[in-house]
Amino acid sequence: MARVKDQTKYIFVTGGVTSSLGKGIISASLAKLLQARCFSVTIQKLDPYINIDPGTLNPYEHGECYVTEDGAETDLDLGHYERFLNVPTSQANNVTTGRIYLSVIEKERRGDYLGETVQVIPHITDEIKHAIKLLGESGKYDFVITEIGGTVGDIESLPYIEAIRQLKWEMGSRALVIHLTLVPYLKAARELKTKPTQHSVKTMLEYGVQPDILVCRTERPLNDHIRNKIALFCNVEATSVIESIDTSSIYKVPILMREEKLDQVVLKKTRTKSNCPPDLESWEQFISRLEHPKKTVEIGLVGKYAELMDAYKSIIESLIHAGTTNDCKVNLKLIHSEQINHHNVTSKLEGLSGIVVAPGFGDRGIEGKIISIGHARKNNIPFLGICLGMQCAVVEFARNVLHLNEAHSTEMNANTPYPVIDIMEEQKKINTKGGTMRLGAYPCSIKTDTLAHKVYAKEDISERHRHRYEFNNHFLKDFESHGMFASGMNPQANLVEIMELKDHPFFIGVQFHPEYRSTVANPHPLFVGFVEAAIRFSEK
Ligand code: GLN
Repeated sequence: MARVKDQTKYIFVTGGVTSSLGKGIISASLAKLLQARCFSVTIQKLDPYINIDPGTLNPYEHGECYVTEDGAETDLDLGHYERFLNVPTSQANNVTTGRIYLSVIEKERRGDYLGETVQVIPHITDEIKHAIKLLGESGKYDFVITEIGGTVGDIESLPYIEAIRQLKWEMGSRALVIHLTLVPYLKAARELKTKPTQHSVKTMLEYGVQPDILVCRTERPLNDHIRNKIALFCNVEATSVIESIDTSSIYKVPILMREEKLDQVVLKKTRTKSNCPPDLESWEQFISRLEHPKKTVEIGLVGKYAELMDAYKSIIESLIHAGTTNDCKVNLKLIHSEQINHHNVTSKLEGLSGIVVAPGFGDRGIEGKIISIGHARKNNIPFLGICLGMQCAVVEFARNVLHLNEAHSTEMNANTPYPVIDIMEEQKKINTKGGTMRLGAYPCSIKTDTLAHKVYAKEDISERHRHRYEFNNHFLKDFESHGMFASGMNPQANLVEIMELKDHPFFIGVQFHPEYRSTVANPHPLFVGFVEAAIRFSEK
């Protein structure tokens, strides 16, 4: 339904005191509650760094890079938005300072500002406001929730706070600010402390923004005394002081926020009528299954960022969705691929009923991945290889079954005599690194009578990509005659999308990233099938 343009409500989520308080989860949870009340909602993340997008960032810096349908390389919070809302996001949902400046500088060169001095205020702030209003102006949304990355007080986020100040002034009750802060518990004093929150709100006030709602992250429940104290010192009503207590699963946060009446406060403050009580029945069913598994299964995730959960966020969440669908708790072990060799592979992977080999770039840890895959192949352990994980499965098979000993991907060894994985034709002429991979959703046709077909239960699928290299079709015949075959192909480009093994209970490598598509409402069939196979393996 098209909405009157200026009826969209804008909710800004800022963070204070420290990073990592869970702004993304709070934004997604509020969005979930509003969606459950029949509103149409989208969430946007504004990141105050100068990279155009996180595609060029190391996962150590910023965790996983999440890819949208339209091929945008984005912040991992967009993954949470999609997993919670089950609605796709796009490039418009993630804007960085780099992108804002690029656009302003291009306009300046074009002559759009001829005669003017181009400045942070108003040119940069106008560009930020434009990026915020763009989603609302599509007429598709009742609410646009905009999460501002970083912490209030950072130099980098100043123009964003200034843009919010102006929008609040222009829009009145159509805009509100939720400020997320920390209320720490001091063991020595045996007390929750409100001072960091007071200071953080004071910083907001210096910039001219009065938060409307405070969401307080805490280890312990906030009593009335604390709520009233925060309300008094920060100029908000006590009902607008929302407790966000630590919880065992991010998926419980919408329920906690409903108990705290966050949605009701938002509706009241934005003067929005709701005739639809929040229906979270299927969400609650998911949580109940998540919390009462009937069995457990041990799964290993082999990757070079094993110490860094955020690097594999979407894979980890996909396994949680798939485990829940199978009424099974997935005990996930992250295993460092650099530490795996021929001598220790059996002990490193001992007790696992399923092995996922992670996506990635570059040489580090590559041999450990290949060795792990050989172990899964020979011991009939369910295996799922994602992107680089699929490419490693191809290299392993080439070396150990086809006896092409020096087979490799040309990404790792440009001079291999057997380039079983090679750079895509269209990539050969590209020299720049930002946003130049094969990105976003592409179709794939699945062959019938294959494991992939059984898992997806359909022939035509579409999945998201992020890669430069591909299976080298020159070798396909040799692979297929030895038992590894292409069960999914891109119908136009003839690129191999899925490889699987004959005579193995579950051995699938995919060139795409199924993890970007798994949501609570729609757990991904590949992960569901993989966990199912792992359960069967564990029961043997
Ligand atoms: N490095 C590989 C490529 O570019 C795989 C990429 C990935 O795993 N996302 O093709």
